[in-house]
Amino acid sequence: MAEFVSLPLALAAEQFAKLPGVGIKTAQRLAYFMLNLPEEEVTEFAENIVKARKSVRLCRCCQNFTEREICEICSDEERRKDQICVVESPKDVSAFERAGGYEGLYHVLHGLLSPMDGVTAEDIRIKELLSRLGDVKEVIMATNPTVEGEATAMYISRLIKPMGITVTRLAYGLPAGSTLEFADDVTRVKALENRSALLRKPRSYTNSPSKCRQKTDLGLKK
Ligand SMILES: [Zn+2]
Repeated sequence: MAEFVSLPLALAAEQFAKLPGVGIKTAQRLAYFMLNLPEEEVTEFAENIVKARKSVRLCRCCQNFTEREICEICSDEERRKDQICVVESPKDVSAFERAGGYEGLYHVLHGLLSPMDGVTAEDIRIKELLSRLGDVKEVIMATNPTVEGEATAMYISRLIKPMGITVTRLAYGLPAGSTLEFADDVTRVKALENRSALLRKPRSYTNSPSKCRQKTDLGLKK
């Protein structure tokens, strides 16, 4: 920031540089851009960010961002209450809602399990999910098809299946290693339609004697 003559301008650029994906050059460009805007527009910009930060909280049920105690989706009487789609972040809820076609509820984990980065089950909203499964018949694991997404889906599935709830996983309509946010709507809808059960028994064991089934079931209900 040494080339900045004005200290306030340098400080503004430093704030932009804190945003994800914004490098120092882009931050400087944004700071100069702001200088050229009318003062009232800059004030409105800053005030809206502060307002969003202050008024938005997590929905008591699904943990998505909302201004209410219980979000619009959770309080919508038209939606199915026995189906929960588990996603990594609020962006994923928006992506599914944009695509349409899903009438159940959501649960936002706010992260994925990642032991390498020190993210454990305590750090994401798993216990909040377990506490709202009373009348739920199906949990759709819609975490991204990445290593962390798969590990999280598997972990949660193992916790839920003993409760007698069907756990399904999005089909691989989505490119491996990418994220839901950047998939097109058709791919997202297809992936949701073609979801499949997690921890399915290997095909060769399907008609085997019960002792083989016990081995492959890992003690979990189908
Ligand atoms: Zn909600």
